[in-house]
Amino acid sequence: MRPDPSPAVRALLSRLPVFDAHADTIGRAVDLGEDLGSRTESGHLDLVRGREGGLGAFVVVAWVDPELFAADPRARADAMFDAAHDLACRHPTRFRLVGNAAELDRARADGCISGILGIEGGHPLEGRLDRLHEFFERGLRVLTLVWNNHLPWVRSCRDGAGADIPPGLSEFGREVVSEMNQLGIVVDLSHAAEQSFHDALEQSAHPVIASHSGCRALHDHPRNLTDAQLRALADRGGVVGIVFHPGFLDAGARAEEARVRATPAWRALDALPPAERFLAGQALMRRDASPLPAARLVDHILHAIDVAGIDHVGLGSDFDGIDRGPEWLEDASCYGTLAELLHRRGLSLPDLEKVLGGNMERVFREVTSIGSDAFHLTPRNRPEPVGV
Ligand SMILES: [Zn+2]
Repeated sequence: MRPDPSPAVRALLSRLPVFDAHADTIGRAVDLGEDLGSRTESGHLDLVRGREGGLGAFVVVAWVDPELFAADPRARADAMFDAAHDLACRHPTRFRLVGNAAELDRARADGCISGILGIEGGHPLEGRLDRLHEFFERGLRVLTLVWNNHLPWVRSCRDGAGADIPPGLSEFGREVVSEMNQLGIVVDLSHAAEQSFHDALEQSAHPVIASHSGCRALHDHPRNLTDAQLRALADRGGVVGIVFHPGFLDAGARAEEARVRATPAWRALDALPPAERFLAGQALMRRDASPLPAARLVDHILHAIDVAGIDHVGLGSDFDGIDRGPEWLEDASCYGTLAELLHRRGLSLPDLEKVLGGNMERVFREVTSIGSDAFHLTPRNRPEPVGV
């Protein structure tokens, strides 16, 4: 039976301790026109369900489909940033975009959930460092260097890289990392090839994160980190956000999801436009795939703590970027269930606070204090307030 949070865990959750390092939620606002300030019937995360789950901050990720938006990936990332700014304008008492520790503290004091703008994959930079500055001006504070598509300056963890792709980071890739250090943008190494991971770690003067990955020791999937990677990340002060995606957490769950994707019902979804298709896929996966017990996610978190240490593990759900979460962790109202499970498996309340968000927040604070301390919108992009 789904465990209810104990009074002590509930008291912790009431302080909104969760810092989720990766959620693709804003795509639903852009493509489906959903108001994420209301409780939404589909998808994983909105401000209402987040608050119920103790969410204090999350990285609002602009993922740009490299094929669908190959002609102008920057415009797509811009549209997603616009939607995030628009959400903040619509709900100024409940959600705020923040660019540094002082703004995060103010948002928390005012009872707002904080959004930190991120881009998943460096392709919207189109090989230009000035683009990094432009996105920074618009609020970018977390850049996942590479998604599943290899770039001429950084190799992804996926197979199939051509001869023109370096084994890790190219010289330009190293420049990107150094420039991010200068500006105060967190380097995110989920999706990176192992060599890219180690090159970036070596290049970065500041702690880095792997925002949404699991442990390779528990499931040998290229998106997961080896114990050596977990240790290297921790040695440099970084944090891994453990992903909620069953297919990354467990070989059996991966096979089960592949089985569902081979059914006629799943293939029939191909007729739908991409955003509708994704939502319908979430519903179908939840209906047809046998659930992955939440304990498996707890196993990954505890393994990462064993290897990397209690100060180097956090959460990166990948909500709204994945078809489903583990059982009992179906959406953003469920972080409390995870907290209770971790507490029952032996995490003290102070340690729980670190894992739910404190560790990830530490890296954000440290890195963003380095660059500009003023987070601002360029006027051309400032959306009109549309009411509270
Ligand atoms: Zn991802």
